[in-house]
Amino acid sequence: MPPQRRALIIGGSIGGLFAAQFLRQAGWEVAVFERSAGDLADRGAGLNTSAELFEALARAGAVVNPGLAFHVRRSAWLKQDGTIGVEIPRGWHGSTWGTIYRPLRAAFPSALYHAGKAVERVEQDGSSVTAILAGGARERGDLLIGADGVYSTVRKQFLPEVAPISAGYIAWRGILEERDLPPAAHALLLDRAAFTFPDNELVVSLPVPGADNDPRPGHRRYYFIWYRPASAAEQRALFTDASGRDHGLAIPPPLIRAEFVAAMKADARRVLPPVLGEIVGRVAQPLLQSITDLEAPRMAFGRVVLLGDSAFVARPHVAAGTSKAALDAAGLVAALVAHDDDIDAALQHYERERLAFGRAVISHARYLGAYLEAGGAATARDPERVLREYGAPHLVHEVDFA
Ligand SMILES: Cc1cc2nc3c(=O)[nH]c(=O)nc-3n(C[C@H](O)[C@H](O)[C@H](O)COP(=O)(O)OP(=O)(O)OC[C@H]3O[C@@H](n4cnc5c(N)ncnc54)[C@H](O)[C@@H]3O)c2cc1C
Repeated sequence: MPPQRRALIIGGSIGGLFAAQFLRQAGWEVAVFERSAGDLADRGAGLNTSAELFEALARAGAVVNPGLAFHVRRSAWLKQDGTIGVEIPRGWHGSTWGTIYRPLRAAFPSALYHAGKAVERVEQDGSSVTAILAGGARERGDLLIGADGVYSTVRKQFLPEVAPISAGYIAWRGILEERDLPPAAHALLLDRAAFTFPDNELVVSLPVPGADNDPRPGHRRYYFIWYRPASAAEQRALFTDASGRDHGLAIPPPLIRAEFVAAMKADARRVLPPVLGEIVGRVAQPLLQSITDLEAPRMAFGRVVLLGDSAFVARPHVAAGTSKAALDAAGLVAALVAHDDDIDAALQHYERERLAFGRAVISHARYLGAYLEAGGAATARDPERVLREYGAPHLVHEVDFA
């Protein structure tokens, strides 16, 4: 029996939990260090699921059932006048971040999950790696996985020059309980994904499971994401709170200035189909994010690897962030098993394979979002083509619960 290996996993979100769980199953000892002390599941908005994500959840021992996603069978162009233009039989399984995170976290032993522990720095000597935590504690392992997201501390140490780059537009997101929807929404929106194309803008909206994964009519929620061009100066203003603090590319929702939320809601009533304008207007606390590209040129550094959003963050058009994190984790553990725990060879293999996938995701996301970039003319778009190409159907696949 080879000696048991120990992995330090930095970040206890979706990517970190998948990696930790798959490594345990492969016989590794694992320890997850998560900076946030609170319940992550309370945060987040809507996301898209995939067959790959559900396979990974099941393999990780999470309780999986069709209630984790809400299935619509059609995608439609919702025109400005509120009527349906083109419609195609393209399905989506929408969900929310908390709905996916919760069963994954529940499947993982709490004794191995160290919440409120931030990693500040990493040291390594060729065959082992040490994480230095805030407060000075040191943890030693054979492998360290930086699953610490878009602003990864681990990545900054090895690739200080790599950072998210604004794509020139932002997105407002929101979720509304089904019972709070305007009456017109019920017949029009609850059995399809809707795509709306104001000039140089895009809204994608769809029903998602309710707070308790309840798919019954009346208990679901409705999610939208609204992409709008914003110059660097406009973004600086949007991401600066009332006290004058600039939050960079992401601002905690309660700190978004009230006048920006009010202006956005007024615009919604002016430029969106009436039913959608009404929905946006009714969301009490919208989320705001800058749309960025993040692309790491490398993912392995000795005994340290990057995984999930710490290495690549694609624009949300590909709707594949959680699936990519799951596939990175599965790919890493498959490489370790295939190389019989020759860690260095396995990490090289992992890097080659996952760099290629990350680049493909980023490139498709750029293609889908190109017309939204600031300064673009009101490009003529073919709505049907957008409905067909949206997401990343060539990279991750639709769920089939049949
Ligand atoms: C609370 C939350 C809500 C989200 N909501 C959505 C959503 O609604 N829709 C969507 O598409 N995507 C959402 N995401 C992003 C989504 O999880 C990722 O795109 C994808 O799943 C890949 O996840 P990841 O694990 O690589 O990174 P992330 O999910 O970003 O997780 C990184 C984790 O690392 C932790 N961390 C960061 N720095 C350190 C450090 N120095 N030491 C220890 N821990 C650290 C963070 O607290 C975080 O939990 C959300 C992420 C989080 C954390």
